[in-house]
Amino acid sequence: MSSATETVIIALTRGRILEETLPLLREAGIEPLEDMRNSRKLKFATSHEQVSLLVMRGSDVPVYVENGAADMGVAGKDMLLEYGGEGLYEPLDLGIAHCRLMIAAPTQAPAPGARLRVATKFTGIAKRWFAEQGRQVELIKLNGALEIAPAMGLADAIVDIVDTGNTLRANGLEPRETIAEISSRVIVNKASMKIKSRLIRAILERLAASAKRHSV
Ligand code: AMP
Repeated sequence: MSSATETVIIALTRGRILEETLPLLREAGIEPLEDMRNSRKLKFATSHEQVSLLVMRGSDVPVYVENGAADMGVAGKDMLLEYGGEGLYEPLDLGIAHCRLMIAAPTQAPAPGARLRVATKFTGIAKRWFAEQGRQVELIKLNGALEIAPAMGLADAIVDIVDTGNTLRANGLEPRETIAEISSRVIVNKASMKIKSRLIRAILERLAASAKRHSV
């Protein structure tokens, strides 16, 4: 069932994903009434009176959506893999903010000791990846300053997002293995999908159409 007073809250990922999501939303008839990129506010009304937008870090988007504090969200697949929640639908790949989650190591890496030391902010993904391969590693959780960790002797390798590879090269690292191809996905709270089905499906349909137009 759906009514005109039904509202949907969409949690968006700040930064480059926001930049690429806003044009798709605009084409889907959802335009924030203020400039989201230059505001300190976290919640925004839109041109669609039934839709409001939140902006936050990507790692927080699945938390808001799974718990129903937002009905829908846009986040990188890396964040969704790391979060690993069961309480979410992932109905749409927007095909934006493409990158790869990779293992990288120094170009002339000395043979690691008994246990490879791997620095990453994606400890959940890395733990699963190395465990599936039966490789013993020591994971070192970092929130930034990843690419410099091998040069400083903190780690033998890193697991990080790679786009052009420029950041790796600038720090004497090279890509070694791809863990996952990443793009931004739309996620939906399971209860919202039932309760607000008509409005959410309409938004998904329009977003899918704008994503398709942008992919050609
Ligand atoms: P690059 O030097 O082009 O390989 O970009 C790598 C850096 O940009 C990494 O430190 C990433 O954190 C960040 N980055 C690039 N693309 C994305 C993306 N689609 N989503 C999130 N972070 C990204």
